Amino acid sequence: MNILVINCGSSSLKFQVINAESEKLLAKGLCERIGMDGSCITYENKADDTGKEFKEVPMPDHNKAVSLVLSALTNEKTGVLKSLSEIGAVGHRIVHGGEKFTTSVIINDEVVEAIKEVSDLAPLHNPANLIGVDACKALMPGTPMVAVFDTAFHQTMPEKAYMYALPLDYYRKYKVRRYGFHGTSHSFVSKEAAKVAGKAYDDCKTIVCHLGNGASVSAVMNGKCVDTSMGLTPLEGLIMGTRSGDLDPAIIDFIAGKENLTAADVVSILNKKSGVFALSDGLSSDFRDLEEGYLSGNKYAKLAVDAFCYRVAKYIGSYTASMNGVDVIAFTAGIGENSSFVRAKIVEYLGYLGVTLDEEENKKRADVHRIATADSKVQVYSIATNEELAIARETYALVK
Ligand code: AMP
Repeated sequence: MNILVINCGSSSLKFQVINAESEKLLAKGLCERIGMDGSCITYENKADDTGKEFKEVPMPDHNKAVSLVLSALTNEKTGVLKSLSEIGAVGHRIVHGGEKFTTSVIINDEVVEAIKEVSDLAPLHNPANLIGVDACKALMPGTPMVAVFDTAFHQTMPEKAYMYALPLDYYRKYKVRRYGFHGTSHSFVSKEAAKVAGKAYDDCKTIVCHLGNGASVSAVMNGKCVDTSMGLTPLEGLIMGTRSGDLDPAIIDFIAGKENLTAADVVSILNKKSGVFALSDGLSSDFRDLEEGYLSGNKYAKLAVDAFCYRVAKYIGSYTASMNGVDVIAFTAGIGENSSFVRAKIVEYLGYLGVTLDEEENKKRADVHRIATADSKVQVYSIATNEELAIARETYALVK
């Protein structure tokens, strides 16, 4: 069965077609600037590797974007499907499932309503995700669709990990609590990590460091997430590309007062103008530039990289304590998979755990590779995440 995986944002739509049995990627692409001038589609047939096609096409709305995706997939020359009937199901990435969704679910009217109900927890993402659901429903009315939530994997956290020490009424009335994000990635990578370490998933303590432009850490014990660094929103936790991560909440009011801003203005700065971008004095949010800056002696690039790695190391220490030990540490996402420099800097802090870095292995680039020495007390891996494959697997499991 072929699964169409859709990740729909307010002005973009990423897609992949994956064969569920072979787990082979057949096609992938991206629609950008939907509803704006200069909208375009990028499409790649991965089955025959016919290369990347790029076309500027007007896309006034997401229905048009989905119809262009479906035309590209069934195009006589470069399509990977003879007809749309070859799509067995559609898997949609939905950012926030609130407390209601602890697993992926087949989408029906009730599910759509429930996703709408938790939209105030992710006002930028959930409505956009639902636009993708509607557009696919309109063009493929008979095809089953599945919602795969970024938050679902973290719903196994115990109360002591997800409750904030605030008046309980905020939880009772508004469900203010830790949810966590990047759940499909943490789920996928923690399973892969246990597998490569030769441990049973339900008998393994794993710390997954998802280090991308958005970054989060999770503690996965015996197959269940027990803690994660992102909170009610993705702002909490690690220092990220442009997000501050953890800070003293009183800073918001302090800066708002000094700069004559509203709390919402400051939160927007914490999301969009902070993180390593801010610490590097505006040099870049991209670790390729930061590494280059670091190595050429830029003191702010050094500060940004050092603070980022220090924060990750603190979370690893904290989650080791939460689980009373750790068997495997996995690095994933753009920085975790590609930056041997950052991995080495983080591992420098882990001597107390008996972690020893294999410098040669760490320099290699592979989908899955061990970066600690064979006799390291805790195993450390770099593991490529594959959120689309995780969504395809979840979708297939529900519809087959
Ligand atoms: P993601 O959000 O997972 O797509 O990760 C994107 C981020 O990964 C970029 O902003 C970079 O900071 C980082 N990145 C990607 N490739 C490299 C690389 N070769 N070396 C260092 N950092 C990288």
